[in-house]
Amino acid sequence: MVAPDTANRQKIGIMGGTFDPIHYGHLYIAECSRHRFGLQKVIFIPTGNPVHKRRRGITSPSRRMEMTALAIRSNPYFDISAIEVQRSGPTYTVDTLEELHQEGTGEKIFFITGADAILEILTWKDVTRVFELCEFIAITRPGYSFREIDKVLSRLTNVQRNRIHFHQTGGILISSTDIRHRVRCGEPIKYLVPEQVEEYIKEYGLYLLAGPDRDGAK
Ligand code: NAP
Repeated sequence: MVAPDTANRQKIGIMGGTFDPIHYGHLYIAECSRHRFGLQKVIFIPTGNPVHKRRRGITSPSRRMEMTALAIRSNPYFDISAIEVQRSGPTYTVDTLEELHQEGTGEKIFFITGADAILEILTWKDVTRVFELCEFIAITRPGYSFREIDKVLSRLTNVQRNRIHFHQTGGILISSTDIRHRVRCGEPIKYLVPEQVEEYIKEYGLYLLAGPDRDGAK
């Protein structure tokens, strides 16, 4: 049997994250990854009900989806998918990848995430299958220490290790936590998020309250 030709397969990036809210750091990371890894497009996939985040109130999936849609619309290489927010129950990346795999035309999938997510990778549901279905682009900031990550990497197989590509960009210096804190304290977020996202946050009064009831009516 002839082995399938994988060299010329299309490559797509998946930006998975809570995006509460999406900011220029995420957009910059996505664009740098697209450029560096030759991705045909990057699909933003806001998490639905993240399994590992039940403890804190997260803005509703519909609001996070709307902000993400506003943020990406000026980039023709960016797309958004509601695949996780439409799924009931907890969000597991393996389920998302399986769905994309079944729908897709055999593209190579690169899952773009912060390098710290790799520290937790062995706790992800069906991690063996996750590594079969995607490669990782793990974003680090300048000066990132690999000490903890090296311990995790040593527990992966060679094949799995080779499917993690560390990539350094500055975009990760902006943080959603900081933006929420700034809004709560009345500090500016201009130039940290796209203008339409800033307007959306103001219009719906997001992040003015700490905790689970801060999400307005939706
Ligand atoms: P997160 O809370 O949104 O992000 C954690 C950290 O990474 C934050 O510092 C965040 O910055 C940054 N970040 C978020 N998205 C990023 C991206 N695409 N590239 C680079 N940095 C990013 O999300 P998370 O809980 O780590 O989850 C990330 C993805 O992994 C999600 O798609 C999630 O579903 C998946 N995941 C899956 C499992 C599982 O299947 N069991 C477990 C954990 C995570 P900001 O706060 O500024 O956004």
